[in-house]
Amino acid sequence: MKLYNTLTRSEEPFAPADGRTVRLYNCGLTVYARGHIGNFRTFVAIDILRRTLRHLEGWQVHQVTNFTDVDDKTIAAAAEAGEPLRAFTDRYIAAFREDAAAIGLEPVEEMPRATDEANMRAMVDMIKALEARGHTYRSDGSVYFRIASFPEYGRLARLDHEGMQSGARVDSDSYHKEDARDFVLWKAARPGEPSWDYGLGPGRPGWHIECSAMALRLLGQPPIDIHGGGIDLVFPHHENEIAQAEGATGKPFARFWFHVEFLNLDSEKMSKSLGNVYTVRDVIERGHRASTLRYLLMSVHYRKPLTFSWEILEQAEAAVRRLSDFVARLDAVTGEGSFEGLDARLERARREFHEAMTDDLNMPRALSVVFDLLREMNAAIDAGTLGAAGAAAVRETFEWFDRVLGVLALRKAEDAQPPVPVEEIERLIEERREARKARNFARADEIRAELDARGIVVEDSPTGTRWKRK
Ligand code: AMP
Ligand code: ZN
Repeated sequence: MKLYNTLTRSEEPFAPADGRTVRLYNCGLTVYARGHIGNFRTFVAIDILRRTLRHLEGWQVHQVTNFTDVDDKTIAAAAEAGEPLRAFTDRYIAAFREDAAAIGLEPVEEMPRATDEANMRAMVDMIKALEARGHTYRSDGSVYFRIASFPEYGRLARLDHEGMQSGARVDSDSYHKEDARDFVLWKAARPGEPSWDYGLGPGRPGWHIECSAMALRLLGQPPIDIHGGGIDLVFPHHENEIAQAEGATGKPFARFWFHVEFLNLDSEKMSKSLGNVYTVRDVIERGHRASTLRYLLMSVHYRKPLTFSWEILEQAEAAVRRLSDFVARLDAVTGEGSFEGLDARLERARREFHEAMTDDLNMPRALSVVFDLLREMNAAIDAGTLGAAGAAAVRETFEWFDRVLGVLALRKAEDAQPPVPVEEIERLIEERREARKARNFARADEIRAELDARGIVVEDSPTGTRWKRK
């Protein structure tokens, strides 16, 4: 397949180095807040990449998506909440898992946390290897990467050393550095902040070292096949990841760099620091489906910016409904029918879909293949030429598309879910039990009626109360 590589600024043929398993790392969420739909644009794009590698190209994928559960922001936010760091970040990790499932991300092989001991040790080992190779210096108990020691610095972001600009995430701590461009590998402990000591003195890792160390610990010898994230990470984060991994091992870090353009809101990047964010849950609470959001986020090419609005979400809903209505319609097709050349037509659709997706994940083109076929098959059903056997073959083709799209399956799972969250149903049933115990039958009946109005039937029996979907 062809994949755009930020390192070379061009599309290149891609195959895993060992011919079988793609070793893929992507930067995960910084868990100091619930992830927003901008974050999920990147995660959905990487999910589409993963599904294309697996289901269209037939490779295995070994994917690592980390959680950044220690950095300046997580520490500050946990302190503000008055909670231990780990308990604080646990909550947002759970929220991420919930949203990831809701939006149909395939489970990945590994989701390491930076603060797990094995990862901390891997970071310290990498810093020691960098020290041994002359890439570091110490200052006030912290360890820094000396950029002047790594002439290749700036190759990914195409920086010249003199004119290097500060990115959004340039480390702005107060420690002494020899050169403003240098970045911290290990930060000396500050009073009241969590710290670890695995041989570099009490402190905590810098953000960048977390990813280099976890990627190589879990994926093995460099170079890994693909490293990905949002476009904002090219500089300094990914540039620094390269400097660390290559400085420590003397080998290239990643063969392909995959970057996803921004989701914007009102012409600005959606971001937690600007505060212009919606979460997956916000979208659902406004009465939309996560499958619709998934469709919207993936329907635009991953290297083009996308501006979110409720109107385009409505348009995405119309498209998803067309798809799901069509598949439902196929199930109702009866009769013999004789669509001339159906097998060849379906074969062509699969080939064109495959070609579009393996052409740097050209989703807009792939979707036009899907909707062209849909239109043609709708006309055939209208004309009575499809027939039950043909409809089954068409359905199989749409299910095959959906292995990559992941929208129809998600829609089906949503339909099978109770319209009211299970926890809420259980809470209301418990409240009703309490009301009955207190002989407040008016309240008990009110709860039953409320659930009934929302599609949940409550049944009392000698063994207790049960509920089911209408
Ligand atoms: P963070 O939690 O900030 O470390 O970000 C997690 C992932 O989301 C990274 O890959 C970011 O590049 C990506 N990301 C953050 N904001 C956006 C956005 N507005 N659009 C697309 N991707 C984003
Ligand atoms: Zn990273």
